[in-house]
Amino acid sequence: MTTLFPTSTAGSLPKPSWLAEPEQLWSPWKLTDSTLVQGKQDALLVSLQQQLAAGIDIVSDGEQTRQHFVTTFIEHLDGVDFANRATVKIRNRYEASVPTVVGAVSRPQSVFAEDAKFLRQHTDKPIKWALPGPMTMIDTLSDQYYGSREKLAWEFAKILNQEAKELEAAGVDIIQFDEPAFNVFFDEVNDWGIAALERAIEGLKCDTAVHICYGYGIKANTDWKQTLGSEWRQYEAIFPKLQQSAIDMVSLECHNSRVPMELIELIRGKKVMVGAIDVATHQIETPEQVAETLHKALQFVDAKNLYPCTNCGMAPLPRDVAQGKLSALAQGAKLVRNDYLATHQLDDLII
Ligand SMILES: [Zn+2]
Repeated sequence: MTTLFPTSTAGSLPKPSWLAEPEQLWSPWKLTDSTLVQGKQDALLVSLQQQLAAGIDIVSDGEQTRQHFVTTFIEHLDGVDFANRATVKIRNRYEASVPTVVGAVSRPQSVFAEDAKFLRQHTDKPIKWALPGPMTMIDTLSDQYYGSREKLAWEFAKILNQEAKELEAAGVDIIQFDEPAFNVFFDEVNDWGIAALERAIEGLKCDTAVHICYGYGIKANTDWKQTLGSEWRQYEAIFPKLQQSAIDMVSLECHNSRVPMELIELIRGKKVMVGAIDVATHQIETPEQVAETLHKALQFVDAKNLYPCTNCGMAPLPRDVAQGKLSALAQGAKLVRNDYLATHQLDDLII
């Protein structure tokens, strides 16, 4: 990246009302067949335009290509029965109706390569593509075949690696794995979660990222946050091992959260996507508020490694709110950039 403090979003942006019911997760598509393919591409272009208009530096598809960040990927795999659904508790927090694994899982063809090529054709900016992480995938389904969370995670890691290689070939600059489950199952993360993630990035030359957050701004998550006490130290349990891992970037939640900022020190050396936009409120941050969060983070992240970002995806937000937050992020990053360049020699920066 040649820009200092390049901005991006954690992932999803609101869907247009003609594609799916806005402000809802798992909102069903309103189109079918070829009109759905076209509709998703049109929505991707709208989403891209929104990011460019706001001044976002690293752009994405806004997740217009998927109904949900986990289930859409799983839907495309063999060995999964979507009609045979079970109700499970996701991240020990809320119940959801999920598909069942009934046989050996495999990926008959790429899930997102064509969409990534489409995005690549329409912008010269660096692009980031999100995939679900292995641990979050196994937490969003019912397994009636493998009988071991770890075994199934390794299978998914192999499949994700195949997908990631095709995304890299399609011109994706950063491949991000969404692992909100890393904030819940600490022992498993340390035992095999990070290792499975490293299997998923094996052989990749592009940058790789893991996004670990406290979830979308939905009620089940905000209620859960109320139970976490005055300091959220979940990252402390997994950052030391993550710091040792081959993952290049870590995307985390900071703004308006009770995560002590100094925990970022535990991943010193990694590129850090600092969440400077709260996705759990409709209140739009001011650029100054964004800048304040980024300034605090700069105590624990080298300037060349600071990537201003959102706390999580913005799919559940109204479109005008999301747009306002994108602009605040870009403007806040600009404030910090100007401050930084005014007080530091350019030679100090290896960017
Ligand atoms: Zn998230």
